[in-house]
Amino acid sequence: MTIEELKALVRDVPDFPTEGIVFKDLMPLIGNGEAFHATIEQLAEWAGPRSPDIILGAEARGFIFGGALAFELGCGFVPARKPGKLPRETVGATYALEYGTDSLHVHRDAVPQGARVIVIDDVLATGGTASAKVELVEDLEGVVAGVLFVIELTFLGGRRRLDGYDVHSLIQY
Ligand code: AMP
Repeated sequence: MTIEELKALVRDVPDFPTEGIVFKDLMPLIGNGEAFHATIEQLAEWAGPRSPDIILGAEARGFIFGGALAFELGCGFVPARKPGKLPRETVGATYALEYGTDSLHVHRDAVPQGARVIVIDDVLATGGTASAKVELVEDLEGVVAGVLFVIELTFLGGRRRLDGYDVHSLIQY
């Protein structure tokens, strides 16, 4: 499937979750077997040559794409979770969203020292979430091998927050 065909399966939802935000809903793409498979293949095409050991994604949509990508590449998957969800000792990072603030945690032993990690998310908006995940990887002395998105909202300039990292997105707006 082409990028244009995948893009046709992304729905714009105006004023969600708050007024003025145009939410990019990827559920029709995820719910379509051919499109989901093609998306994971295209993510893997970029990620594979960067030789990751681990894919790191945040709940909830980062789990869907990250889990499938890790499986496709034979990598481990590390979940970044909201506070209070992981049962053992964690490290955390706080970030500003396009709407509100939040923090993400990973288990302190989730990323072995020197492990190559690709950070994935569904949407790059302001880049706050992605830079928090990058910070978590580096706190644990992992190596950020790439930062990958299905969608990039280029008009929000989130890439600037990820300056110096290898950043890629499949679909741009
Ligand atoms: P940011 O930290 O601003 O780059 O926001 C990225 C996170 O917020 C991603 O995990 C997205 O799931 C979510 N997000 C932010 N803006 C949007 C949007 N317009 N449509 C869909 N998801 C969004």
